[in-house]
Amino acid sequence: MPGLLGRHAIVVGAGIGGLAAAKALSSSFEAVTVLERDALPSEPIARIGTPQARQVHVLLRGGLEALIDLFPEFETELERAGAVRVRVGSQSRLELPGFDPFPPRDLGFDYLSMTRPLLEFVVRRLIEKQGNISLISRCRVTQLLESPERTAVTGVRYDDANGRGTELAADFIVDASSRGTLTLELLDRIRLPRPEERQIGIDLHYAAAKFRIPSSAPPDWRTVLHRPSARSGRGGLLVPVEDNCWQVNLNHMHGGAVPENVADFVAFARTLRTQTIYAAIKGAVPIGPIYRFVFPCSARRRFEALERFPDYLLPLGDAICRFSPAIGQGMSVAAQQASALRRLVEARVSDAQPLKGLARSFYAAIDDFLTAPWAMAESDFIYEKTRGQRPHDFRERMNFNAALQRLASEDATVHQVMSEVSHLMKPSSALRDPGIVSRVTALMAAST
Ligand SMILES: Cc1cc2nc3c(=O)[nH]c(=O)nc-3n(C[C@H](O)[C@H](O)[C@H](O)COP(=O)(O)OP(=O)(O)OC[C@H]3O[C@@H](n4cnc5c(N)ncnc54)[C@H](O)[C@@H]3O)c2cc1C
Repeated sequence: MPGLLGRHAIVVGAGIGGLAAAKALSSSFEAVTVLERDALPSEPIARIGTPQARQVHVLLRGGLEALIDLFPEFETELERAGAVRVRVGSQSRLELPGFDPFPPRDLGFDYLSMTRPLLEFVVRRLIEKQGNISLISRCRVTQLLESPERTAVTGVRYDDANGRGTELAADFIVDASSRGTLTLELLDRIRLPRPEERQIGIDLHYAAAKFRIPSSAPPDWRTVLHRPSARSGRGGLLVPVEDNCWQVNLNHMHGGAVPENVADFVAFARTLRTQTIYAAIKGAVPIGPIYRFVFPCSARRRFEALERFPDYLLPLGDAICRFSPAIGQGMSVAAQQASALRRLVEARVSDAQPLKGLARSFYAAIDDFLTAPWAMAESDFIYEKTRGQRPHDFRERMNFNAALQRLASEDATVHQVMSEVSHLMKPSSALRDPGIVSRVTALMAAST
């Protein structure tokens, strides 16, 4: 099999991470099978297995680029399906405590805005065009199967659409089931330790609604991101989506109530620090009900620190790391991981045992993709009630960030780098550039 690493790979879960991983593996395996517990809809609608999908889902530019890397026609297809193009900086209004709004500027790049079901639908359609990927729905994987020596996985057991238990063998398995329970249960069974899990408890309450975009919509922005202050913990996000609608999210940290009906939704918007979202939606026509969601904690599993891990198995996406949804990073990070996986498998083609120990190289390759979003998730320690291990240098980091924001508000170049890091296009180390650090440090010194 020249150019191939194996005959068959299985991906568990047809969410964003699973679909992207299937494409990443498709050039290195004869066949890839994606097993998904849900019935996959033939139109862009929400499904049970991804209950979060009714909430606003922003695909950051870094995530878009990772998906384009895997599916070159992705951007065109997404726009053709109805996604809305937004120019970052000039069309995306950012409201931060102390900057209501942050100075608008053209930052030189766009992103596409749409509902999560539309995004997943477009990726699924692109996957269905791949001759060697089979997408099998209504199959719940119940167990990862281990080798007799218990050092590797050899396949999965699943219940098919008729509830019949079936086994399927594979040379390589990706666990993109979001919870990652299959991987954890396997580790328990073969008596290997589970990875340490760090959690940042935020009990974030979410509510989402859709409105028809009125003809009176303000011409000076297309999206609004309203970041909460440490005192109120109330935030909001308004984005344009397909079919000329706004999808609006209102959120409240640490168990604060969120609205159940449209009238309360609009009233909640009025309690934000600014009236931008309230003014936009107060006269707009609502479409459909309010959907609510509770997100207990960001969580990162330290698989990279395990001394032993079964061969031919790879957890990916939320199975490794879940981030506060308010920063909109999870799908982008999952797509970046899949893109890294493709580079990794393609680079191993001439190795004697290309799939052995692949997980370890993968964890090293994705570390950079996790550092910036996890640091952003840690900023939730500004809330007194946040649970977990606060970083020892938290105060210094927050002071640095505050000064960096001030500098970026005055300097377009710094603003651009800050936005590229937030959109996961550059690693967070870009903000440690000596030129930027010396100016930030000078600002910090001047304000003490
Ligand atoms: C309220 C909320 C808002 C969010 N907003 C954003 C946002 O704005 N931007 C962003 O990038 N991210 C956002 N996220 C995060 C994002 O939803 C996830 O990070 C992303 O979906 C992770 O992809 P995944 O493939 O790992 O998991 P998922 O996309 O959740 O997919 C997992 C799939 O596995 C299937 N599955 C599970 N178990 C089995 C099994 N045993 N057998 C077969 N199939 C199985 C599920 O049915 C599902 O299809 C948000 C999350 C929440 C909770």
